[in-house]
Order: sequence, then C-alpha cells, then structure tokens
Amino acid sequence: MNKKGHVMNGVLLSIGLGYILEPSGTEATFVTILEVGLPVTLGALFPDVDTEFGKHRKTLHNLPVLGLFVAFPYVFGNLEFVWIGVLTHYVLDVMGSKRGIALFYPYPQEFGLPVGVAVKSKHADLMTVVITGFELVVVAAIVFYTPWDTLELGGSIQQGIQALGV
Ligand SMILES: [Zn+2]
Repeated sequence: MNKKGHVMNGVLLSIGLGYILEPSGTEATFVTILEVGLPVTLGALFPDVDTEFGKHRKTLHNLPVLGLFVAFPYVFGNLEFVWIGVLTHYVLDVMGSKRGIALFYPYPQEFGLPVGVAVKSKHADLMTVVITGFELVVVAAIVFYTPWDTLELGGSIQQGIQALGV
C-alpha cells in the first residue's frame, strides 16, 4: 500500500480502537482515540522508511522489527501504542497488496496472501477499508471474548496463597 492507504488504515483503526477500548461514546472515547491514534498512525508510517534506507518490504517489514516495538515500552516506558501501527502496516501490505513482505528478514523470502490488489489499483482504498474492518473485528473479539476473569485467576490464587502466609 502507499502512504495514503497506511494513513487511512492508521486513522480508521484508531477510531475503531477508541470505541472498542472506551465504548461510552463520550469525551473519554474521543480522548482514547487521540491517545491511541497519534502513535498508531506514526507506527503505520514507519516501515516504509525502508524505501529510502535498506531494502523496501524487507529491512523494516519483518517480525524482529515488530518485536523491538513490542518490547520497547516494557524496557523504556515509552512508545506504548506504536507497535500496533507497525503491525497494521504489515497486515495491510500482506493482505491488501500483491507483493508480500520479508517477515523473517534477513531471510529474504517475501510472504503475502493471494487476496491483495495492485498498489495503484482503483480498488486499493476499498481494500484498505475492508482490511481495517477485519482488523477491528479481530481486536473486538479478543477484547470482548477473552475470559479476562479466568486469566486473572492465576493472580488471585497467588494472592490467596500469600494471604494464607504459605
Ligand atoms: Zn510497506
């Protein structure tokens, strides 16, 4: 996808994320959209820096780079939502365009899905909207259907054990 597609994807995804994370539709939702939207949109633009530095669709389009952005906030307490933008950039390139990306770079093989359209196709914008919708369905499913209570059970058991003084 071109820059326009990635910005559109980043902005639409952020609006959707704002409503998923804060469904009230009040000022709090708007604040969440801003909070998430700027870093996600910046992240969505980042991988194509490799059109100038390195090899396009390889150097900054791979899982090790994504891993850096996921780990960064834990190490430095900074850049919290940027990884979401980097990930959505990869998804849009893999699903939305004909050419794939080198997910396991420096291994040079590019991986794509046979559903994409040419970057210059007049359907590229529609494709971007459809893929963004798909991403939001996946995120909503994870947020709303993950049994967070069950997942927190581990922590509760640990607290219980501590309370018992064992
Ligand atoms: Zn790209």
